[in-house]
Amino acid sequence: MHFQQNISLKPYNTFGIDVPAEYFAILNNIDLLEEVTTLPYTKHILGGGSNILLTQPVNGLVIYNTLKGITVAKEDESHVWLSVASGEVWHDFVLYAIDKGWGGIENLALIPGTVGASPMQNIGAYGVEAKETIESVTFWNWQEKAFMTYSNKECAFGYRDSVFKHGLKEKVFIISVVYKLNKQPKFNTSYGAIGQELEYMGVQELSVKAIAQAVVNIRTSKLPDPQQIGNAGSFFKNPTVPKAQFDVLHASYPGMPSYPLNGEMVKVPAGWLIEQCGWKGYRLGETGVHAKQALVLVNYGNAKGSEVWALSQQILDSVKEKFGIELEREVQVW
Ligand SMILES: Cc1cc2nc3c(=O)[nH]c(=O)nc-3n(C[C@H](O)[C@H](O)[C@H](O)COP(=O)(O)OP(=O)(O)OC[C@H]3O[C@@H](n4cnc5c(N)ncnc54)[C@H](O)[C@@H]3O)c2cc1C
Repeated sequence: MHFQQNISLKPYNTFGIDVPAEYFAILNNIDLLEEVTTLPYTKHILGGGSNILLTQPVNGLVIYNTLKGITVAKEDESHVWLSVASGEVWHDFVLYAIDKGWGGIENLALIPGTVGASPMQNIGAYGVEAKETIESVTFWNWQEKAFMTYSNKECAFGYRDSVFKHGLKEKVFIISVVYKLNKQPKFNTSYGAIGQELEYMGVQELSVKAIAQAVVNIRTSKLPDPQQIGNAGSFFKNPTVPKAQFDVLHASYPGMPSYPLNGEMVKVPAGWLIEQCGWKGYRLGETGVHAKQALVLVNYGNAKGSEVWALSQQILDSVKEKFGIELEREVQVW
């Protein structure tokens, strides 16, 4: 394995934050894991760098994951189980499934990053979450020095959440994920503007390809491209509040959008709360809040991670003060 020292991570994170990694190595073969385990450095796994905020130089070893491969693990008349190496680019995997006509992940088209990070925060978009198709996750446990496989249930998936953000945080290297896809896809077009976009596209007959294309069209028109302006997508999670608290807030703010989750809890869009606090389009030096998406914090070029962090703290404080709601950061902070 080839190690580099004092490497800038700027090209490796979509925020475009320039901090050095003490050591940096590319991992393209799982046979190298045992060797890496014995190294006396703190280990940080890096996929596409699209869900991290780098606030300081990274001590220890950054392992850039390029494990590749998609294989059919199992198949029957109605489903196919695909074992996908964690370093595969997520959207490439979506395209692969679309090409075969297999359904389940088409609404998750164009989410940046790698397959290995998909179970981390149970990626989701347009009414679909990765957990709906994840059958199992296989990882290398640094402490146990062993491969382990967790079932969907053991992954304890929640909204942008899993065991990999809690009990197994920084303890494992996810090496592959088994996805169960549907040979007779059930289409989900009810969320957001998908139906409208399909109509605009003139689609007569639904297909996974058409839905993915509709999602790609919507995403490219709405979300800032990290190649143009540094960002990590949604910086905060959408908070959920008890229905009683929501009712009180709604009486004061009748325009407050909401998504009832069950009888007791209500989800409120974080972007709306942030916008109401006057942050949309705000800029301070090299960092700011995107002019079209209040949920997206941006780096105009040379922002420090600590500056983005400080802005996110100001936003958290103001939302708490105005609405009494505690926002939670979605990005992983290094
Ligand atoms: C423009 C934009 C739009 C986005 N839209 C969405 C969206 O619609 N829905 C959504 O859910 N997310 C979205 N995201 C966030 C991001 O794309 C996802 O969270 C993605 O899964 C991150 O993948 P990554 O490979 O870049 O992870 P990284 O940023 O490289 O890593 C994220 C965390 O996961 C850990 N990790 C990564 N790979 C492994 C592994 N193999 N084993 C163990 N730990 C690992 C890292 O150590 C880190 O803590 C968006 C981001 C951007 C920039």
